[in-house]
Amino acid sequence: MGKRKSRTSKPAPKKPAKLDTEFTCPFCNHPGAVECLIDRKDRFAEASCRICLESYATSANALTEPVDVYGEWIDACVAANEGVVVRRCKPRLGDARDYEDHV
Ligand SMILES: [Zn+2]
Repeated sequence: MGKRKSRTSKPAPKKPAKLDTEFTCPFCNHPGAVECLIDRKDRFAEASCRICLESYATSANALTEPVDVYGEWIDACVAANEGVVVRRCKPRLGDARDYEDHV
């Protein structure tokens, strides 16, 4: 008889059912700090970090998703970094040693 009244109202996790629009910032590495805004009407998209306030703007089209804007930002960062890094060739010391043998 002691039938328990089953509660149908379970505490549902309040998660907005929308696409991922928060990403890790490529500058301060803060997870979920980057938000993407897409204005398809004006064909404009922007990703910005609310922690370090870095931002990246690009053009958008009807198919542009937040992850595309973020991906473009990452690509731009990688390209910028590669331009800065100077690869130095180590000089070979083998020839100098041969020279010392004659002394
Ligand atoms: Zn940041």
